[in-house]
Amino acid sequence: AIPEALASVRADFPILQRTVHGKPLVYLDNAASTQKPQCVIDAITRYYSAENSNIHRGVHLLSTEATGAYEAARGKIAKFLNAADDSEIVFTRGATEAVNLAAYSFVEPKLQAGDEILISSMEHHANIVPWQLLCERTGAILRVIPVTDDCELDLENIDELLNEKTKFFSIVYVSNAIGTVNDVKPLLAKAKQRGIPTLLDAAQAIQHIPIDVQELGCDFLAFSGHKIYGPTGIGALYGRRELLDTMRPYQGGGDMISHVSFEGTTYKEPPSRFEAGTPHIEGAICLGAAIDYLSSVGLQEIEKYESELIEYAEAKLSEIDGLKIIGSPKHRSGAISFTMGDAHPHDIGTVLDTEGVAIRSGHHCCEPLLKRLGVPATARASFSLYNTPDDVDALVAALKKTALLFM
Ligand code: PMP
Repeated sequence: AIPEALASVRADFPILQRTVHGKPLVYLDNAASTQKPQCVIDAITRYYSAENSNIHRGVHLLSTEATGAYEAARGKIAKFLNAADDSEIVFTRGATEAVNLAAYSFVEPKLQAGDEILISSMEHHANIVPWQLLCERTGAILRVIPVTDDCELDLENIDELLNEKTKFFSIVYVSNAIGTVNDVKPLLAKAKQRGIPTLLDAAQAIQHIPIDVQELGCDFLAFSGHKIYGPTGIGALYGRRELLDTMRPYQGGGDMISHVSFEGTTYKEPPSRFEAGTPHIEGAICLGAAIDYLSSVGLQEIEKYESELIEYAEAKLSEIDGLKIIGSPKHRSGAISFTMGDAHPHDIGTVLDTEGVAIRSGHHCCEPLLKRLGVPATARASFSLYNTPDDVDALVAALKKTALLFM
């Protein structure tokens, strides 16, 4: 049964009313991007109809109001993550830019050739490639925590991997490709004990699990707005203020400076120092609206509901002949990846689409992980607060039809 808090959420998402190829849309591609509730869509319209103006520099009312709304959105994110201060939230284009910012502005100036950065085999490319680029620039070495066949982090050698050469540790909270929820708190604590700063890639966690950055003990955290029912092109880097204060600018331009002269330019305090140029004002404000929405439903309720839904989906999918769930983590959130006999995941996705069921197939931007698990591609169903057991049943029915075609 769908609990009270979530009973009416489907009605909040107008896109769920549409059909695809004449069939009702069953949207199970939430790990790629979530749909938007009416209140977020309304906030976008309201912003451009009544509030639009550039921020920070204007003395006129619209600019003052837009500035207030932009900064209020920062405050909502800070509160949502339980950051110690609003200034610990830097707006970025998304999780990708957040990781790149931390790599360039915080980590790079500290690195010497031979130093090590630690990540895991479970990372999204967004938490691999920025570190590879950094290693290319500095001669640092990228080290990788392996994963087990069950898609858990293999921590057997963690004490060697987090060593005196390790200058930064960046780890994914929830895997977008296979849904593993990593037990990150003890890992972050271990790094902290050794004086190693940390970043948590929360792109697939923040919409499913309540997050408290102080309780988790991460130094940085990255996420994207479009995966938490907000607009694309906006996200944030949380960083402990003490660390943000030490960081060099990321990009140069307007709004990030105190004074500019040809003799030398001085920079604003964080977070402005890292927000050069006119930001995605509407994006930030409407991300704030998405966070209000999530908070009104309640992350605790969402986590509980979604985990029951995922359990149901795992059980139902397991009944399909030839279907193999890739990885059976002890704790799963958000996504289930699978293969089905010899059917190519792209073919599975294509047939499901004709049934109105939207899933994703491919390597899910986790090529090294899929290689490790011995599959070039998987089909992935990923869930959100508006999915229901009916969606799972529609997925299963469509997969049974697909099986008839390919197996
Ligand atoms: N990390 C993870 C775990 C992700 O799932 C994603 C998006 N799929 C990203 C990082 C990057 O997010 P974005 O493309 O929105 O910057």
